Amino acid sequence: MNFEYTEKSKALQAKLDKFMQEHIFPLEKEHAEFVEKNLWKHFPKLEMLKELARAEGLWNLFLPKSYGDLSPGLSNLEYAPLAELMGRVTWASEVFNCSAPDTGNMEVLSKYGTPEQQKQWLEPLQAGKIRSAFLMTEPQVASSDATNIETSIVRDGDEYVINGRKWWSSGAMNPSTKVYIVMGKTDPTAQRHVQQSMILVPAGTPGVTVVRPLSVFGNYDSPEGHAEIELKDVRVPVSNMLVGEGSGFAIAQGRLGPGRIHHCMRLIGAAQRALDLMCKRVAMRTTFGKTVSKYSSIRQDIAKSRCEVQQARLLTLSAADKIDRFGIKEAKDLIAMIKIVVPTMTCNVVDRAIQAHGGMGVCQDTPLAGFWVYGRTVRIADGPDEVHMYQLGRNTVRQATTEV
Ligand SMILES: Cc1cc2nc3c(=O)[nH]c(=O)nc-3n(C[C@H](O)[C@H](O)[C@H](O)COP(=O)(O)OP(=O)(O)OC[C@H]3O[C@@H](n4cnc5c(N)ncnc54)[C@H](O)[C@@H]3O)c2cc1C
Repeated sequence: MNFEYTEKSKALQAKLDKFMQEHIFPLEKEHAEFVEKNLWKHFPKLEMLKELARAEGLWNLFLPKSYGDLSPGLSNLEYAPLAELMGRVTWASEVFNCSAPDTGNMEVLSKYGTPEQQKQWLEPLQAGKIRSAFLMTEPQVASSDATNIETSIVRDGDEYVINGRKWWSSGAMNPSTKVYIVMGKTDPTAQRHVQQSMILVPAGTPGVTVVRPLSVFGNYDSPEGHAEIELKDVRVPVSNMLVGEGSGFAIAQGRLGPGRIHHCMRLIGAAQRALDLMCKRVAMRTTFGKTVSKYSSIRQDIAKSRCEVQQARLLTLSAADKIDRFGIKEAKDLIAMIKIVVPTMTCNVVDRAIQAHGGMGVCQDTPLAGFWVYGRTVRIADGPDEVHMYQLGRNTVRQATTEV
């Protein structure tokens, strides 16, 4: 494996880094103050930043070149360091139209959408004009096993009727979110992995009720938010079905792979920035007559963090490389590995950085608290750690016992 970045990726890294230095980092404080005081409202400078990013060609970089004309032409391996740079500020990826859950939803629509579905939803998503949500998880069942999903999707003439309750629908509180991809069951009597289907539901369709926003460690993640949503006799045309009845589980597998690797790429950026901030902080503080950076315990924390960030980075690049060369299915073990390793690594590195900052580390004066929350929640979102370990362990035993 050769992880030397291509010239194209290096040129984009330089451009993206400059953009971040000039336009994003200087607005971090203003953004934090705005979102704290203005629930469910957009940061007023966001649209201007998006226009600038688009004009600079820093737009939709996540969509791999296997998507042909829809893609700006990067491989996952080329995109990884760019996502890492974006991850240094928790809200930056949206500026480049590279944020969750839209990236996963755009991949689904690019891969499985009909020309009409693409015109109606993919085009405005790719233009950054609207946003979207992915409704899979349900409060009443253990949703880390997607076969438990109970929402019903029943055909009635030219329409499907949808009934169910979802929660943790990220982005659904956002006033710009205009469409949901909903997972439910079209045939609960079919074989376990073909009972499910995915269907497009425009936000605001009669019968859709956004019940409440869920908080994450006391914060609403405004303006995206995470909603609990009731679907009661919601009717949509049959043309809103993705692929066909029974394809939901297969689509979910395809969607969650890229989503997971993107989270990991961004988390590495967050962890790297936490380490950088830690180094700067301990170099400028003195206790008991000694610069804090000179204490052995602090140096050990820094050294351990540097090793862990680089290990996670290389593992993530290796997953990206495998997806590029063999596809999502073949890369599933590596995707499980990074999903197990990277969020925990981020929590550990950020935790050390918080400790080294003292009281400052837990307040709004650094991005560290936000980074820790991001790492901690990704240990659950897109499949909890244990589920990835359960599957990776099973595959590892299977490979070891079937190989000769
Ligand atoms: C911030 C955030 C954003 C999210 N965004 C979305 C979204 O946009 N759309 C969406 O549909 N969902 C979203 N989710 C939901 C997320 O994907 C689910 O919470 C996750 O899949 C777990 O499902 P659950 O909450 O039902 O937990 P459960 O399935 O009830 O699992 C609870 C716990 O049981 C244990 N467990 C489960 N299986 C095993 C096993 N095989 N071995 C050992 N232990 C096990 C684990 O400790 C697990 O954490 C989000 C969640 C969070 C926190």
